[in-house]
Amino acid sequence: AVPTLKDPSLLRSQCFIGGEWHDADDGRVIDVTNPADGSVVASVPRMGAGETQRAIESAEQAQSGWRALSGKQRAAVLRKWFELLIENQDDLAAIMTAEQGKPLPEARGEIAYAASYIEWFGEEAKRVYGDTIPAPTSDKRIVVIKQPIGVCAAITPWNFPAAMITRKVGPALAAGCTMIIKPASQTPLSALALCVLAERAGVPKGVLSCVTGSAGDIGAELTSNPAVRKLSFTGSTEIGKVLMVQCAATVKRTSMELGGNAPFIVFDDADVGAAVKGAIASKYRNAGQTCVCANRFLVQSGIYDTFVAQLSDAVSQLRVGNGFASGVQIGPLIDEKAVAKVEELVSDAISQGGRVVVGGGRHALGHSFYQPTVIADVSPESQIFGEEIFGPVAPLFRFETESEAIQLANKTQFGLAAYFYGCDISRIWRVAEALEAGIVGINEGMISTEVAPFGGVKESGNGREGSKYGMDDYLEIKYLCMGV
Ligand code: ADP
Repeated sequence: AVPTLKDPSLLRSQCFIGGEWHDADDGRVIDVTNPADGSVVASVPRMGAGETQRAIESAEQAQSGWRALSGKQRAAVLRKWFELLIENQDDLAAIMTAEQGKPLPEARGEIAYAASYIEWFGEEAKRVYGDTIPAPTSDKRIVVIKQPIGVCAAITPWNFPAAMITRKVGPALAAGCTMIIKPASQTPLSALALCVLAERAGVPKGVLSCVTGSAGDIGAELTSNPAVRKLSFTGSTEIGKVLMVQCAATVKRTSMELGGNAPFIVFDDADVGAAVKGAIASKYRNAGQTCVCANRFLVQSGIYDTFVAQLSDAVSQLRVGNGFASGVQIGPLIDEKAVAKVEELVSDAISQGGRVVVGGGRHALGHSFYQPTVIADVSPESQIFGEEIFGPVAPLFRFETESEAIQLANKTQFGLAAYFYGCDISRIWRVAEALEAGIVGINEGMISTEVAPFGGVKESGNGREGSKYGMDDYLEIKYLCMGV
C-alpha cells in the first residue's frame, strides 16, 4: 500500500511546526488509508489546540523577518520550491494517488498545476504595486501602499491535496505573510511532502507550518487566536459558514472557496462533439469530485436526444480502477460516506422519473468505487438539482428556451462555475453576462489555470485564487496622507 518512492524522505509521519518535525503531544495518530483498497498508507499525528498554538507562535515570530525581505528575495525562495516540486513530481503524484485515489496521470497533472501557483505568485511578489491619487487640495499628497496581512491560516480539502494548498500558500508567502496549514485528514501526506520541499527550498523556520489532526480543535484555535489575521478555507459551504462565524469574533479576513452546483448548458446550435468532450472533462475528472464539476446538464430539446446518445457512449467507455493501474480514468470516491451520498441522490432522481442510461450504482470493484453514470429526463424537483453530487453522475434536464435555461441555471444558492455550449455570438454574450457564477466556461470544460481568478459568488464563497487578483486576498491597503 505504501508507494515506492525515489525519495522515501518525502513520506512523513510527523507534522512540520516552526521548522521542526513533531509528533502529537500525546502521541496519538490518524491512519491514512488508500480508498482503492482500504489499506493503510501511513499515519500522521492527531494534533489539537496546543500544537496549533505553537505553530501560530512560530508564525508570529517569523513574520517580521519574512515581510522585511524584498519581493525579489521571497520570489527566489518560491522559485526554488517550484523547481523542487517539479523535480519530485513522480513521487508527489504517487503519494497523492495512494491517499486520494485519483488516477496517477491526474495526480501528476495536479502536481504540475499545484507547482504553477508557486511559480506564478513568486513572480507576482515583484509586482505588488501601490498607487498615487491626486489630492482634492494642493496642500496634500495621497499615496496607497499594500502590505502583507500577517499570520494566515489555511484549511484545505481532500479532492486536490496539493493544489488547494499551493493556491493559498503561494500568494500568502509571496505577499510576505506567514501561514499555518490544516490539511484534510484523508490526504495529509501530500501536504507534509510539500513542507519537506519548502524546507529544502529555504523557506525560513516558522514561515510555513502544517498541523494535522482534529479539524474541530485545530479549526477552533486557528479561528479564535487573535494573532491569526486571515483564514482561507476551501471545503463545504456548511463548514465554511461555521468558520466565518468563528472568525467574526476577532474580525479576521476570510477567503471562502465553497460548494458549487455548476450548470452545463447545451444549446441547439452547439457543436455536440465539443460539448461531449467538455462534459467528460468537467464532469468526470477526479471521479466527479471537484467543486467546478458540471452538476446539472441543461440540454435544449432540439439537440437533447443526440447529446444523450453521444455522452452516454463516451461515458460507457471510461475505465474505472485503482489509480495506479495504467489506463484508468476513474478512481474510487474518497470514502464510503461519499458513495452513500451519491446513492441517495441517484435513487431520488430515479424515483422522480429519471432514466438511467449508463451506470447507476456501485462498481463491481467494491470499496468506494461507483460506476460512471448518466441519468436522462431528470426532474428539476429532484434533490440532485439542488445539491453538489461529488461523484461521477451526470443528470440531464431538458429545456426549450434560452430564458428558461438561464432561469434554471441560476435557480441555486451556489455560484462557482457555469458552462455553456452554443455558437450564436449574441447569445454567448447574453448568457455569459446573465449567469450568476464566478467562472464561466464558454465552449470549454477545463477552466482552471493559475493565471485566471478562481472563485465564486452567492454561497459559493468570496475571494479569488490565482491571477493578479489572488494576491489581493493576502494584502492590506494602507492610505498615506501627507501634508505639504
Ligand atoms: P468535504 O466535504 O470536502 O470533506 P469539509 O468542509 O467537511 O469538506 O472539509 C474541508 C476541510 O475542513 C477539511 O480539512 C476538514 O478537516 C475541515 N473541517 C471540517 N470540519 C471542520 C470544523 N468544524 N472546523 C475546522 N475545520 C473543519
